[in-house]
Amino acid sequence: MSRIKSGDTAPELAVRQALHARGFRFRLRAIDLPGKPDVVLPKFKTVIFVHGCFWHQHLNCRRASKPKTRRDYWEPKLRRNTERDASLLKEIKALGWRPIVIWECQALNPHQLSNRLSSLGFLKRG
Ligand SMILES: [Zn+2]
Repeated sequence: MSRIKSGDTAPELAVRQALHARGFRFRLRAIDLPGKPDVVLPKFKTVIFVHGCFWHQHLNCRRASKPKTRRDYWEPKLRRNTERDASLLKEIKALGWRPIVIWECQALNPHQLSNRLSSLGFLKRG
C-alpha cells in the first residue's frame, strides 16, 4: 500500500482525532487553499495548520532549536519557511478564512491540545 509522504503525521492524526471526538466535521488537505491547510472546518470558515516545531520554528520551543552545525545552510532555509508561513496566513485571511496554527508539541500533549481547541471559542470543551 502506498502512503502519501507529506501527510498523516502523528501530530496531524492527534488533532483530527480530537476534533472528531468533539463531533466536528472537517475535510483534509485543502488543495484549493494557500498552503494546503491540514484540516478545514467549512462550517466555521476556519482552517488548521499543524506545524512541525522545527521546520516552522516554534518560538521558545525546545523542539525548534537550530542545529549547531551548518548554520549557513539552516538559517536561511528556516527563515524562508517562517516568511512563507507568515505570507500564507495573510493570504488565507484575505480569502475570508480564519487560520489556526497548532504546533506539533501542543498536538502531542493531550492536555495542551484540549486547551488549545477549547480556546478557539466555537469549540466546546470536550
Ligand atoms: Zn513546539
